[in-house]
Amino acid sequence: MALFPQRFIDDLKHQADIVVVIQDYVSLKKTGATYKGLCPFHGEKTPSFHVHRDKGFFHCFGCGVGGDVFKFLELHEKIGFGDAIKLLAQRFGVTPPEMEENDEQRANAAERETLLKVHESAAKWFQQQLASPAGARIRRQIESRGITDATSQALGLGFAPPAREALKTALLEEGFSQPVLLRAGLVVQRDDASVIDRFRNRLMIPICRDTGSVIAFGGRAVDPDQQPKYLNSPETPIYSKGRTLYGLNVSKNAIRERKFAILVEGYFDFAQVYQAGFQGVVASCGTALTPQQAQQLRRFTNKVVLSFDPDAAGQGAAAKSCEMLAAEGFSVNVAVLPAGEDPDTFVRTKGAPGYAERLEHSAPYLEYLLDRAAANHNLNTDEGRVKFLGDMLPVASRIPDAAMRDRFADRLSFKARVTDDVVRAEIRRAVVQKQPALTKREVSSFGRVTKAEKGLIWLLIHQPEAALDALATLDGPDFEGLAAQVILDLARKLNDDKGFSPSALLERLTMVDAQLVTAIASEGEAHVHDAYDCVRIIKRLRWERERAAIQREIDRLQEVGAQDGEKLQELLIRKYGVIQRIEALV
Ligand SMILES: [Zn+2]
Repeated sequence: MALFPQRFIDDLKHQADIVVVIQDYVSLKKTGATYKGLCPFHGEKTPSFHVHRDKGFFHCFGCGVGGDVFKFLELHEKIGFGDAIKLLAQRFGVTPPEMEENDEQRANAAERETLLKVHESAAKWFQQQLASPAGARIRRQIESRGITDATSQALGLGFAPPAREALKTALLEEGFSQPVLLRAGLVVQRDDASVIDRFRNRLMIPICRDTGSVIAFGGRAVDPDQQPKYLNSPETPIYSKGRTLYGLNVSKNAIRERKFAILVEGYFDFAQVYQAGFQGVVASCGTALTPQQAQQLRRFTNKVVLSFDPDAAGQGAAAKSCEMLAAEGFSVNVAVLPAGEDPDTFVRTKGAPGYAERLEHSAPYLEYLLDRAAANHNLNTDEGRVKFLGDMLPVASRIPDAAMRDRFADRLSFKARVTDDVVRAEIRRAVVQKQPALTKREVSSFGRVTKAEKGLIWLLIHQPEAALDALATLDGPDFEGLAAQVILDLARKLNDDKGFSPSALLERLTMVDAQLVTAIASEGEAHVHDAYDCVRIIKRLRWERERAAIQREIDRLQEVGAQDGEKLQELLIRKYGVIQRIEALV
């Protein structure tokens, strides 16, 4: 992996004046300590896009985007972090250094190399088993699902026979050691210390990096009563589920060419859609997409057509994926299938032309939500229209772009048959109440950030030394449940490990958390001026939480009339201890 040494990144950031970089794209005017211009990420006529040269970050008060110089390039050029570094290095005439490795890094690299090799061998072996006479039954099963030999081979499908040690024996014979097999998750150690194959009697689906290297497996049950239906590789040094997008290895070129990716849920949806000629497809494999997976995808496109079971598309994992993709700046469409159908069954019955038509008629995610809400309410009654608007106003208020919000207001008023002035006024009100540009999840977390947290975050950027000193007096449990938990915890860890800087913090945060930081840091002054005051409030909140928890336990014991006086006594002592801690803080 071509990672750049942190020292190089820090140096580059030091040299790359954020104002100079952004001025390549946006015309900026100096006003006071900051630079202002028209935001390149949303349409506006008066400048609300601010660049703070000395702190090295930008923030837009209109749409809420913000981050460091790398984040700007990532967003503007639609490239990944690595490419942003390369671009910046080029711009400032800096040559990336040769990778420097210490012994530990070399050992890790060697281990990853071995893990990749053992997966490659295992994939080959599973494929041989599928092709052998023993795999005949599984081949028929694949065929009966309408998957051709060519597709099966393109996806590298295989078969793990119902034997305890078949794969283990084969790989040991090839010269891999048992610890390597355990580390790869291909075998498991049982309580009686025996070591057996993890995947037995399963259809094997290799999971690959986008470069094609096999890094894990999904194993599907082949008997009706076999549990679990899917068994997956565990996380290993080379495999992290949240960072891997299934199918990208065979679909990335088509995605790039056709300028969009079809997102389906399962392996068989993927196989069917891919086989039908829509090769630009990826599968989320049943869980909501993570921002890391979105980043993988962004290297090839920023447009996604979601193709899920219609019952699932509006809720759960699919809805979460939509919101996250939209928040990460993707354009998201939804291709609705008939009720009860998933891409797998639909393509099998209606073929490629039917599926192509569904894709063509896919609606933008917002339109899709609108149609669904309209279908859920009776718009012929006042009550139904009010409920419909009630559902849609929060959605409207989350649209980052003002012009888009207006267009949505038109659609909304048309559907609800209410004059558009009323709808626009309502949306404006919802926007003001709810912070534009942030999705529901973010709005709620933004809203829950306490003054003490905001104070610490502001100070971390503007007076880092004082903030870090104060932060060092907090520990893990103090952060629990805080809206800014991730941010404060990361700042503390950076300080412990390799040195904190505002840009090192911004660089490592998700887009949403980075925006929270830049929004707070852009304010004129801190909500709470003294870092130790912030820390005291946060400590106090923690002990208050603890006191409430103990009290609940005491109430519960007394309610059931527990005879256990000792337990009650112990709780009362603990409660007294916590109260003392709270009083000591005042
Ligand atoms: Zn903006």
